[in-house]
Amino acid sequence: MDDLHLLTAHEIKIAIDSGVEPSAVLDAVQKRIEAIDSKVKAFAYVNKKATQVKRGGKLSGIPVLIKDNICVKDEATTCSSKILEAFSPPYDATVIKRLKDSGAVLIGKANMDEFAFGSSCETSCYGPTRNPWDLDRIPGGSSGGSAAAVAASQTIMALGSDTGGSIRQPAALCGVVGLKPTYGRVSRYGLIAFASSLDQIGPITKDVEDAALLLGVIAGHDVLDSTSVDIPVPDYCKSLTKDIKGLRLGVPKEYFVKGIDPEVETAVKKSIETLRGLGAIVVDISLPHTEYAVSTYYIIGSAEASSNLARFDGAHYGYRDTDAKDMIDMYVRTRSKGFGDEAKRRILLGTYCLSAGYYDAYYLKALKVRTKIKEDFERAFALCDCIVTPTTPTPAFKIGEKTNDPLAMYLSDIFTIPANLAGLPGISIPCGFSSGGLPIGMQIMARPFGEETIFRASYAFEQSTDFHKRRPTI
Ligand code: GLN
Repeated sequence: MDDLHLLTAHEIKIAIDSGVEPSAVLDAVQKRIEAIDSKVKAFAYVNKKATQVKRGGKLSGIPVLIKDNICVKDEATTCSSKILEAFSPPYDATVIKRLKDSGAVLIGKANMDEFAFGSSCETSCYGPTRNPWDLDRIPGGSSGGSAAAVAASQTIMALGSDTGGSIRQPAALCGVVGLKPTYGRVSRYGLIAFASSLDQIGPITKDVEDAALLLGVIAGHDVLDSTSVDIPVPDYCKSLTKDIKGLRLGVPKEYFVKGIDPEVETAVKKSIETLRGLGAIVVDISLPHTEYAVSTYYIIGSAEASSNLARFDGAHYGYRDTDAKDMIDMYVRTRSKGFGDEAKRRILLGTYCLSAGYYDAYYLKALKVRTKIKEDFERAFALCDCIVTPTTPTPAFKIGEKTNDPLAMYLSDIFTIPANLAGLPGISIPCGFSSGGLPIGMQIMARPFGEETIFRASYAFEQSTDFHKRRPTI
């Protein structure tokens, strides 16, 4: 069998149980990386010495690719930034420890937007990752390397992180499944922080069953992260029943407005009809503060980023400029040369919003609007069990198309940002293709810790369609 890289994790588990050697799976994936990564450029680093640490776990022998902002002990962890070019963490993130304990094989680090700032994977110091469906297009971001690698069968599963859409948006644009868990469901210990009140690590996989499997491994309370919540982790695979009779799906009118690509709108509306046909009840809902989500996010996200990035000063981690004449000069030179343009933009914006004269007008105001957005969802969830929307307003755009227009770039997360502001779980699943053959994603959100409802709805949809089975030809 030399096409093992095409299988899902749950299929590989069955294959291994019936005698396939885990080393053959790893071999197939490594051959695939070797053959096509010079075109896709999904990897920041390939671990040629990848091995399985443990047998008999939930992910024994399954290759998993890790976004480059998650610490793996003694392996390069750079956030695709020059400022961390020489950094290898002395410890494993909690999710990495859990993956190793489950028998997963860590095959390398995925390319990403620098420090997860971006929606296109173009701000990486390694250069852009390409969308495997059309190599002239972006894969989405910031977890673009993770999503592209899953779509191109260069890994079986991947981890991403999502602050404003960075798991769901690239999953949608690459035609794979991406889940942002509830804030507090997965430990952030060892995730290099972008915006600590918004960040969550989550799975990017080929189908919903694999997402349920991977979340089950990484989720759960962690004493090393005080924002992780101490409630039991259910067996997510038990939610994969295909039965959604009576499930109430809310469709918010604010997510189907001018500016959305007509093919995206049609695909998502058709998918909602598919869900209705499976027995779901569709209800119209309103999330009136949606229009303020992007501006609120860019104030809170940049404020937290400016504070989190203060630790990269040349003294503690990674890159240090050696021509400096004194300590202050060393900080200035290191940060000027080490950070890319988008990171500098966020630091400037965040510092400005937090400064004494503007704190009340911007940061404090944004916190109040965040509460309003959260309350919108609380009211909506009195009427429905989950909320169904497009994941992105358009399919994947061309490389370079939005690099000179940060505001246009920021709008690609218009539908994913509200879930981060409210701390809710959300998934993106494949739900169609554009006439040009580009994948389209549908987002399903649920109440806090409602991942089981999300899996139930998305599995039912997936099992009655075949969008998730299509793969790009490269
Ligand atoms: N694209 C958004 C941003 O640039 C979201 C990024 C993310 O979720 N990490 O901030």
